[in-house]
Amino acid sequence: MSETEFHVGKARIRLVQGDITNMETDAIVNAANSSLMGGGGVDGAIHRKGGPKILEECKRIRAMEWPQGLPTGKAVITSGGSLKARHVIHTVGPIWRGGNRGEPELLAQAYRNSLRLAVKKRLKTVAFPSISTGAYGYPVEDACRVALEAVKDFLEKEDKLDEVVFVLFSESALQVYVDEAKEVFLKAIQMC
Ligand code: ADP
Repeated sequence: MSETEFHVGKARIRLVQGDITNMETDAIVNAANSSLMGGGGVDGAIHRKGGPKILEECKRIRAMEWPQGLPTGKAVITSGGSLKARHVIHTVGPIWRGGNRGEPELLAQAYRNSLRLAVKKRLKTVAFPSISTGAYGYPVEDACRVALEAVKDFLEKEDKLDEVVFVLFSESALQVYVDEAKEVFLKAIQMC
């Protein structure tokens, strides 16, 4: 597993290549769809490895809180079932429709609301996949800037998290994130 590290305040940001279902962070984030009933990609992998308990909790959340489905940009939390991570934060990224339908703001909301929920639950370490860049078609070069900026802005205002990890499935996605992170985080250090 290759990795690269950056810092914002007391929090560490790590970029790694790997499978997010293997992470031992307090929470891993699921790039879910609004049904919360599972799907392909990272969603399918999390439910397969985490077992039926996660889906049961998702069904309960749908019934009690979001009968019409979880809106894009919002986040909810379940246990991690049989995953090493104790919790799964389920968020819904936007479907890419060319970039002028509010996609960047909705993607930033997905990251922000996931981190807010982690802080609310007193979690310290959170791992994200590259939300929306699979089936939802968001170009990874655009999505990674939104993702990294959203996390940086959050960590600059909120000091309760110790670590945010981006887990990129492919080496090419990792490289795109690393290049962008140098821009986003090293620029931030120079401004401090
Ligand atoms: P979305 O519907 O939000 O696009 P996907 O799951 O289709 O979600 O893809 C999001 C990103 O997650 C893609 O870059 C995909 O390569 C990646 N991915 C798929 N499976 C995993 C996994 N097990 N761990 C980490 N990332 C994954």
